[in-house]
Amino acid sequence: MVELKTRAELEVMREAGRVVGTALQACRAAAAVGVSLLELDDVAAGVLADFGATSSFQHYHPHFAPTPFPRVMITSVNDVIVHGIPTTYRLRDGDLLSIDFGACLNGFHGDAAMSFVVGTAAPADLALIETAEKALAAGIDAARVGARMGDISHAVGKIGRAAGYGIPEDFGGHGVGRRMHEDPSVPNEGKPGRGLRLREGLVLAIEPMFMAGGQDKYTIDDDGWSLRTVDGSQAAHVEHTVAITADGPVILTAP
Ligand code: MG
Repeated sequence: MVELKTRAELEVMREAGRVVGTALQACRAAAAVGVSLLELDDVAAGVLADFGATSSFQHYHPHFAPTPFPRVMITSVNDVIVHGIPTTYRLRDGDLLSIDFGACLNGFHGDAAMSFVVGTAAPADLALIETAEKALAAGIDAARVGARMGDISHAVGKIGRAAGYGIPEDFGGHGVGRRMHEDPSVPNEGKPGRGLRLREGLVLAIEPMFMAGGQDKYTIDDDGWSLRTVDGSQAAHVEHTVAITADGPVILTAP
């Protein structure tokens, strides 16, 4: 069931979103060569504590995973697309890191992600990230009252496809609210003018995830969570929680 949010609820969601944006910025600032993924998770946990918020991810146990997610931050390195579990792995020069974070404050969730390179960046990695960011911006711009879900999906997908990138099957964006994952799903590819009519108060996590190698298939690691490209190519993932309002789309997860 799709739940529309009132203006008052959107203000509460903006506060949850601010926690998310702040944690992502703090982790990005802390991510350097030699820093471990668990240390980044600690940074994010500290932000949650500062705001009196709780993690949307820790203990989350969706149908596709064998175990609950053990940490507050998702850290996906290089060929890991999404859902990477923080480990003792220490970041190396040139790593492409995608961080994804969710926070719950006053009963509402926010969910966002960013990708960046640690240290010296390969031009191909920067292009991949930039393309994902462009797709996210296009998807957000399509999130308008009266448009349809397919308009968002098409806006995201066509930018990834034009660059020759793969788009993982089965995974995409979603509604956000009192639960982190709500209806409707927000596919990263679709037909314009088709699907759910977008209404004021709908809040969506829009989250392009692109794979440089161009294949759409992925594998899942033995941990049951980490989605990895089948060809070892790099992947990028960016995301914002966005409210559809009469005044246009509003990003709720800005820092
Ligand atoms: Mg999400």
